[in-house]
Amino acid sequence: AKKHGRNRYHFFTAELNEAVLRIINLDKQMRQALKEKNYKLYYQPKVCIKTSKIIGAEALIRWIDPIKGFIPPNEFIPLAEENDFIIELGEWIINDALNQYINWQKIGIDISISINISAKQFLQNNFEDILIKKIKDKSINPNKIILEITEYILIDQTDKVYLSLKKLHDFGINISLDDFGTGYSSLSYLKKYPINYLKIDKSFVDDMNSKNGKIFVETIVKMGQMLDLKIVAEGVETIEQLQYLKSISCDLYQGYHFCKPLSAKDFEEFYKAKN
Ligand code: C2E
Ligand code: CA
Ligand code: CA
Ligand code: CA
Repeated sequence: AKKHGRNRYHFFTAELNEAVLRIINLDKQMRQALKEKNYKLYYQPKVCIKTSKIIGAEALIRWIDPIKGFIPPNEFIPLAEENDFIIELGEWIINDALNQYINWQKIGIDISISINISAKQFLQNNFEDILIKKIKDKSINPNKIILEITEYILIDQTDKVYLSLKKLHDFGINISLDDFGTGYSSLSYLKKYPINYLKIDKSFVDDMNSKNGKIFVETIVKMGQMLDLKIVAEGVETIEQLQYLKSISCDLYQGYHFCKPLSAKDFEEFYKAKN
């Protein structure tokens, strides 16, 4: 039994080492990928439910490794958040998304751009000042920029987050609360913070096949609209889901039913064909 135990111990160490090595490697590769320009933003259309028109696009990062291929964000964003690389990567994301916005404006694709901002990135000093300066320097209409943040940021009860959000909001930038309902949500956040959009998480959209699921989503939509928020449903995959959302006057939606995230070039073609 003793011998067995020792073997098992060795087995675990080997496995642990492997896991640690994998993370160290990923860490290195992730940074290298930025130097080698292996990140690319994809764009998923945001659609007005009433008119079926594309009124915006959410930027979603992709890591395209020459050997490993497509690496989805869930496989590296969490690590990037842990080791602070997200600050550098997030800076690249913002620059790239803003430049894409400008290019699209030039060719008559007049849409808003949503950018996902991770908590670490948002909480760095002067985040809001740096972003506002960028938008000014590039002569971008701030009303066309939407920052998608998560409730996680809002649990910080100091004034710092409130003041940053207020500065951004007063300048004209829109704030969208992503993954609404999944985490630390408290209805008081919706009153306290300057927020423009609520995104209903996909898990609640998936639940709309049950009576309670429907009631839940309808309640969020009604409540949000009473607070002057626009409501976005994410992860809409079926016509039934879309029809229900329409029947309860949800404002916007995103999802495979309409379109998956596309490269900028494919988005352009898709947009021209649809709008
Ligand atoms: P998220 O912000 O909640 O993004 C929605 C995710 O749902 C995206 O996954 C999108 O591709 C996917 N999706 C959209 N419609 C459907 C649908 O109809 N069905 C299904 N099954 N999925 C759908 P993605 O692109 O893999 O991103 C995952 C998460 O990674 C994002 O969740 C976000 O938290 C993070 N992320 C992605 N890009 C960025 C970025 O540029 N910056 C930061 N900080 N985080 C990002
Ligand atoms: Ca998002
Ligand atoms: Ca989301
Ligand atoms: Ca989500």
